[in-house]
Amino acid sequence: MIRIAQISDLHFSKFSLSPTQFFSKRWLGNLNLLLNRAKEYVNERPLSLIPLFKEKGITHVIIAGDLTTTSSKQEYKIAKEFVDALKEAGMTVFAIPGNHDHYTKKADRTKVFYENFPSPKRKPFSISDHGVTSLPLTDGWHLVLMDTTYASPLTSSNGYFSPIIEQNLKKLLTKINPEENILLVNHFPFFQHDTRRRRLIRGEKLREIIASHPNIQLYLHGHTHRRTIADLRPNGLPLILDSGSTGHHYGSWNALELSATSLNLTVHKWNGEWEAIDRQTFSFETKPWYQKGLRFKCTGCGKCCTKKGYVWLEEEDIKALSKHFNLSENAFIKKYTRNCGFDLALLDNPGSDDCIFLKDKKLCEVYDARPKQCRTFPWWPQNLRTPSDWEEVKKECEGIDHEDAPLIPFSEIKNERER
Ligand code: SF4
Ligand code: SF4
Repeated sequence: MIRIAQISDLHFSKFSLSPTQFFSKRWLGNLNLLLNRAKEYVNERPLSLIPLFKEKGITHVIIAGDLTTTSSKQEYKIAKEFVDALKEAGMTVFAIPGNHDHYTKKADRTKVFYENFPSPKRKPFSISDHGVTSLPLTDGWHLVLMDTTYASPLTSSNGYFSPIIEQNLKKLLTKINPEENILLVNHFPFFQHDTRRRRLIRGEKLREIIASHPNIQLYLHGHTHRRTIADLRPNGLPLILDSGSTGHHYGSWNALELSATSLNLTVHKWNGEWEAIDRQTFSFETKPWYQKGLRFKCTGCGKCCTKKGYVWLEEEDIKALSKHFNLSENAFIKKYTRNCGFDLALLDNPGSDDCIFLKDKKLCEVYDARPKQCRTFPWWPQNLRTPSDWEEVKKECEGIDHEDAPLIPFSEIKNERER
């Protein structure tokens, strides 16, 4: 079990009189700060959390954006000191930007947030370059961090779930085992309840992806400054938590005790001191729909090696195949692969969709060194997500539910997928 503090919308601020602010929308943020926010926010409030987190045994801190108010250097300095103090106190910190952290066009273009809070560089994507990344969190849980901020126009505070981030998220989700639950963090809610100028643009596309991945069980966001607990799992959506604005005079934060099968949630609110105001417990299903096993036997029909598509290569695949052909890795890449976006894939046989290593329509020339994608078919995460995904892949693979196919137990499916 890990203990997570969910905080958001800290809005560290530093009023500026600099004349250069009039070349960006920062002047508006400073005016708002002078008239409103300075009365509502205190830079010291989040600092009071550090000893409290230590006392409560918090191991991880998730910051769902808006550490600053106008993305100024001075505000980033205060925010960084806060995050550094959390780390010095022994906590692992995951921070994503909110719209205020990419407040001006320059702040967005220069990715000033990531200068201060470098993103974890993890394959295949890093959040700073691709808008999304993932990493293992704890037993049974994977963390997905997303950045949907952009420098929105003068009087709006929208986010944008762009088609590129959509594509990257879909690809990233295919790499996460369907038995693992996913905790997804984004600054913006995906619902379109707010006014138009505060919404996540294309939020409905994000909702579609979430609805088609039942293992996305937890969605943490900020932005609204409203404390929210919405358990939408009976409707095929995740449990949604918004901590509210932690930096506000009457700020709030959530403590999450998370294990593979349960979440103990405690909501805290500032009331002269930090008080626990609500406690709730949620259970999570860890066993997937195919826990009783699936029937499969490869007939060797060769159809999966002849259909249009890509055989993606991982680093280990390139090593194994180079060795198989007694070539250097560079020579193998040049001779047998093509560059497709972020990754390398095998070439097809000229004039067909057949894999370059398929001989006589049936035999794999590199069978013992074949790529992981081939070794692990049909047990790919995207095929096992839901029973209907499995039915879809069955249309293309005659080995699934074949009359001679044995029942492959759940434990073996897990092993097969890791081969
Ligand atoms: S389509 Fe299925 S049965 Fe045919 S070769 Fe591929 S895995 Fe085997
Ligand atoms: S490497 Fe072998 S198993 Fe994989 S697609 Fe090519 S021919 Fe088929």
